[in-house]
Amino acid sequence: MAKIIDGKKIAAKVRADIKERAATFASETGVVPGLAVIIVGEDPASKVYVRNKHRACVEAGYRSDIYEMSADTTEAELLTKIEELKADTGIHGILVQLPLPSHLDEKAVLEAIPPEKDVDAFHVVNTGKIMLGDYSFLPCTPAGVMKMLEYENIDISGKECVIVGRSNIVGKPMAMLLLHANGTVTVCHSRTKNLSEVTRRADILVVAIGKADFITGDMVKPGAVVIDVGMNRRDDGRLTGDVDFDSVEPVASAITPVPGGVGPMTITILLENTLTAAKESIGK
Ligand code: NDP
Repeated sequence: MAKIIDGKKIAAKVRADIKERAATFASETGVVPGLAVIIVGEDPASKVYVRNKHRACVEAGYRSDIYEMSADTTEAELLTKIEELKADTGIHGILVQLPLPSHLDEKAVLEAIPPEKDVDAFHVVNTGKIMLGDYSFLPCTPAGVMKMLEYENIDISGKECVIVGRSNIVGKPMAMLLLHANGTVTVCHSRTKNLSEVTRRADILVVAIGKADFITGDMVKPGAVVIDVGMNRRDDGRLTGDVDFDSVEPVASAITPVPGGVGPMTITILLENTLTAAKESIGK
């Protein structure tokens, strides 16, 4: 039986610590961390994510501004909004909720956010810094995974770490963080041959592909730590991960559930990054 890694519990502890540090910082400097989130269009999943971010900010005592823009917003209008927020000294983090409607150039929009307010760490400058291991903003989801491993005292050094998925927001930065922590890292993707042979080598298996229940027990080495980043909606509306929990849980030594695993950690790191941005904005 695997240990269930409780993301909600870990996130609550980390958020309490962030809240305390943010309050101390505010009382010493008069600066309250501020996050602005822009959402374009009506995507229901995005609306839920934005609401959760807003709630987390309010609970942490942050300023939280939400800008809801219509689905037919032009790129020029969106860039103007980003310019306004760039100039707002009370806003330390700017986040544009993805995905954007297809007529908007995601890359151009993300590059318009100044690196010092890019709390999602998607700007090319921050991506480059992550590669070099010299960064202030943590990539939210991968850093959330690292925090969970730290809380569970799971040693990474020298371990076989296999990541399934190579997206710019999860798989690639995850590989970098595990590498910086001295893991031996393999990244798999849709062209990987004999995937289950590779996943069965993993001491630490991180899965981020966006396919419900894809990783099954026979693909996992007995005693592995399995981190499920996936968030997929079943036909009945329930959330499920990329890992088939029922068949993997008896094989693994530790596993994250979905929901209640990686998800709550991602927003926690966003709070941490916003506090970092606020501190750096006044040279602290
Ligand atoms: P992307 O769609 O951007 O990337 C998916 C990756 O999985 C690609 O690299 C793709 O390979 C790979 N892949 C797809 N099918 C297979 C397959 N059959 N075998 C091996 N690899 C495969 O997804 P994201 O990284 O953005 O997200 C992944 C999942 O994580 C989603 O469910 C998403 O909702 C969730 N997520 C959860 C977050 C959280 O906070 N918990 C945050 C962000 C994402 P290729 O490159 O070859 O196409």
